[in-house]
Amino acid sequence: MNNTHHNNIAVIGGGYAGMSAAVALADCSTAVTVFESAQQLGGRARGVTYNDTQLDNGQHLLLGCYRQTLHMIKMVGGNIEQDFLRLPLQLDLHKHFSLRAPRLPAPLHLLVALLSAQGLSFSERLNAARFMLTLRSMRFELPNDITVTELLANHKQDSALVQKLWEPLCIAALNTPIHKASAQVLLNVMCDALNQSRADSDMLLPRIDFSTLFPQRAANHVEQRGGKVYIACGVEALHPLEDGIEIITARGTDKFSHVICAAPPVVAAKLLRPIAALTETVARIDSLEHQPIYTVYLQYPSHITLPHSMLGLHQRYSQWLFDKGRISDQHGLLAAVISAEGIHQELPQDELAKKVIVELREEFGIAEQPVWFKVIAEKRATFCCSPNLQRPSQQTALPRLLLAGDYTAGDYPATLEGAVMSGLKCTDLISA
Ligand SMILES: Cc1cc2nc3c(=O)[nH]c(=O)nc-3n(C[C@H](O)[C@H](O)[C@H](O)COP(=O)(O)OP(=O)(O)OC[C@H]3O[C@@H](n4cnc5c(N)ncnc54)[C@H](O)[C@@H]3O)c2cc1C
Repeated sequence: MNNTHHNNIAVIGGGYAGMSAAVALADCSTAVTVFESAQQLGGRARGVTYNDTQLDNGQHLLLGCYRQTLHMIKMVGGNIEQDFLRLPLQLDLHKHFSLRAPRLPAPLHLLVALLSAQGLSFSERLNAARFMLTLRSMRFELPNDITVTELLANHKQDSALVQKLWEPLCIAALNTPIHKASAQVLLNVMCDALNQSRADSDMLLPRIDFSTLFPQRAANHVEQRGGKVYIACGVEALHPLEDGIEIITARGTDKFSHVICAAPPVVAAKLLRPIAALTETVARIDSLEHQPIYTVYLQYPSHITLPHSMLGLHQRYSQWLFDKGRISDQHGLLAAVISAEGIHQELPQDELAKKVIVELREEFGIAEQPVWFKVIAEKRATFCCSPNLQRPSQQTALPRLLLAGDYTAGDYPATLEGAVMSGLKCTDLISA
C-alpha cells in the first residue's frame, strides 16, 4: 500500500474487518482512529466470559486457505501453531459417516478421502469423486449461479450424499440451507480449500478466545504506531463535508479525511440512510436477509470427553460438537453448534439445551448432567448467502466513505476471511 500519511482515517467498528483495516493503515503511518460501540473488540467473533469460563459468542473454525486472516493474526504477534489446534481435513458424522484426508497432495487427498469414506455405498463414493472432478474441470465456475440443491440435483448426487456430505458442508461454509444457498459461493470456498495445497483444507480450531486472537492484539499494534482505539464509543451519525467526513460520538464531533464503515450491515444502513447519495448502497444492504447461529455450551465434569475434538451428528439438533477439553484444555466443556435457520429457533433456549443434553446421552452415553449450560443465540450471525446476491461494494458514491464487513462484495460467504479481505480492500482503495 502507498503511504497515506496525509490522511486521517476513522474506522467504525472493531470487528475483524475494521481491525484489519486499522492495522494496515497504521502500518503505513496513516493516522487511524477506531470507534467501537461495545465494551470489547471482536464483534461477531468475540470472547465471552460466563461462570468464570472463557467462551466465544460462538465456536468458530478457520480453514487453512484463510490466508489473509492468518497473515493478519501473525502480523499482530499471533503464533498460528500455538493459537490453533490444526486438524487435517476430516468430517465425522457420529456412527453415520466418516471421511479423512490422507497425507497426499491436493486434490488427490480429497479424491482418496471421498473414495474411502465410510457410511456411503461404493457407487455413492464414486459419484461424489466424479462430481469433484467435474467441478475441477469447470474450474469451480458455473455459467449461471443456482442454488446448491439445484447443483447437486444436476450432478445426480443422491439423498445419502446430500445429507451426509454436501448439506453439512454447505451449512458449515455458508450458514445457509442448501435450497437457498449460492452454489457459486460454495464452489469458491471449495476451490480455495480443496483444490490447491493440502494445508488449505486443514481445519484450525482456536485455543484462545476470538477477541484475544486478533482484535485485541490488533488494537495494541495500532496504538503502538500512534493510532487510537476507543471502545464503548459508538458512532451516532456521519456528516459528509466538502473535504472530509464528520463523525458524531459520545466524545463529541471529530473530522476525518476518510471513513471506513465496518459496522454490521443493519448499523451501516442506519448510519448511511440519511445521506441521499447513498440510497443505492442502503437499498442493497436492506435487501440482505440474515441467518442465525446458535451455540450451546455445556460444562460437564472434567472427565467427560467426546471421541474427537470436532464431530457432527446426523439428523440431530446438534450439527457440530466441539470438545474444548481436547482443543484448549477446558476439560468437560462441550459446545454444540446449530447453524442456519430451522425448527430449533422455535424452542425456548432451556428446551434447546435439554435437547442437546439428550442427544449427548443417546449418542455418547453421557449420563451426567452438565454443571451449567449457556445458549448463545446470534440471530443475525451472517447474511443469507443466496444465488446472484448483489452485495454492496466497498466503494460508495462518496469517495471518502468506504464500506467494510463480511457482507460487502466478495467471493466469500460471511466469514472471518471475507471480513478481513474487505477491510484490506478499503485500505487499498484509499491509497489508490
Ligand atoms: C456464532 C457465529 C459463528 C461463526 N462461525 C464462523 C466460523 O466458524 N468461521 C468463520 O470464518 N466465520 C464465522 N462466523 C462469521 C464471522 O464471525 C463474521 O463473518 C465476522 O466476524 C464479521 O466481521 P465484521 O468485522 O465484518 O463484522 P462484526 O464482527 O459485526 O463487526 C462490526 C463491529 O462494529 C461494532 N459496531 C456496531 N455498531 C457500531 C457503531 N454505531 N459505532 C461503532 N461500532 C459499532 C460492533 O460492535 C462490532 O464490533 C460466525 C459468526 C457467528 C455470529
